[in-house]
Amino acid sequence: MGVVACKFGGSSAADGLQVRKIRAIVEYNPDRRYIVVSAPGKRFDGDNKITDMLYLLRSHAEHNAPYEQLLQVIKERFLGLEADLGVSVGIAGEFDIIEGNLREGAGADYLASRGEYLSAKIIAAFLGYDFVDSAGLVLFNDKGKFLSEETNEALGAALRGHERAVIPGFYGTLPDGSIKTFTRGGSDITGSLVARAVGADVYENWTDVSGFLMADPRIIENPKAISRISYKELRELSYMGASVLHENAIYPARLAGIPINIRNTNAPEDPGTIISADDTATDGGVITGIAGNRDFTVIGIYKNMMSNEIGFIKRILSIMEDYDIPIEHIPSGIDTVSVVIADKFLEDKLGDIVEDLEKKTGAESIEIFENMSLIATVGVGMTAVPGVAAKLFSALYEAGVNIRMIDQGSSEMNIIVGVETKDFETAIRAIYAAFVA
Ligand code: ASP
Repeated sequence: MGVVACKFGGSSAADGLQVRKIRAIVEYNPDRRYIVVSAPGKRFDGDNKITDMLYLLRSHAEHNAPYEQLLQVIKERFLGLEADLGVSVGIAGEFDIIEGNLREGAGADYLASRGEYLSAKIIAAFLGYDFVDSAGLVLFNDKGKFLSEETNEALGAALRGHERAVIPGFYGTLPDGSIKTFTRGGSDITGSLVARAVGADVYENWTDVSGFLMADPRIIENPKAISRISYKELRELSYMGASVLHENAIYPARLAGIPINIRNTNAPEDPGTIISADDTATDGGVITGIAGNRDFTVIGIYKNMMSNEIGFIKRILSIMEDYDIPIEHIPSGIDTVSVVIADKFLEDKLGDIVEDLEKKTGAESIEIFENMSLIATVGVGMTAVPGVAAKLFSALYEAGVNIRMIDQGSSEMNIIVGVETKDFETAIRAIYAAFVA
């Protein structure tokens, strides 16, 4: 018998109807033995996610605002799920404990984690699987840093004792036993940890889309699905904003060489996307996907004979470090270098940065280009294939898009272009039409 680790996200655990779909999926393949679940998500547009309500509950309590009604709404959702699925896991009693802890000042992580905890209890009972709590198995150090190897050992040892188990996602514990969560969307990470710990053949991540699309469907109508993508390509695309999976979810599975299969709970017959450990695996096409991000600022720095000056770039980088600003790209010319920064990190620091750059680098001119966007065209299929850049640039030229910056990593797996934000969507459509449509 094989071993498949599955993670079902919030939309898959939203209500009784969805949880019944989980059961059908799990029963369809008996290898699906280890199931990680999220807290119930939205049941319909405008509905609330349990996790959001739990965070809200905590801030009400913290500010001494009345929280009883909110707690009741959350409780009723779980009571409703318990009744609908015909299981009895003592939800009412669990809420007495939660309320007691809330009154005693329980932290945000503890409260937020209760969504996954209760969801896993109910789903375990409904599937007839064992419930295995992640508390004490997913481990963090006293500074809140995740402990990868210790977790792998603890999870592996615990799960070996259960042929079939449901495990709550999103949280673990600090050395003192208190609850610590990952960042939002962190059940994806737990799924990957479980897959590694049990040596799964595949990590199935069940969500509400049938895998990754080659481009953002808000920009490209009906973009093609990606059937196979390498970890590296995914990293490039996710970095640029294509998000289906928490970015830290890739590492544990990758370490163990376990492929990740993104699947759709609402369309289980769709094969979804396989994220493969084989970095050379492709879909057969030259490009695998296009992703982009708006809201960048480029600082262009010019100094005559810059190219002969040792330490020039170092000085620029240390100024950025002083302002605590991560840099996206540093395209350079002979006597020019540009620094590309995401606006969200720049806040109102730009004026001071420019002043420092002038003072500390002796730059002759500094130009600021605001409202820039970056677009990454990614694909291992383009490695060593001549003409890819030519095709991309002509497509942009024909669409009337002015390219303000070009960057290609030495892996030749991506070409990043900087364009003005007003051209962002036109550029993505032009690239998609040239390579895919
Ligand atoms: N429930 C948590 C969140 O909404 C974690 C997760 O679903 O992955 O972020």
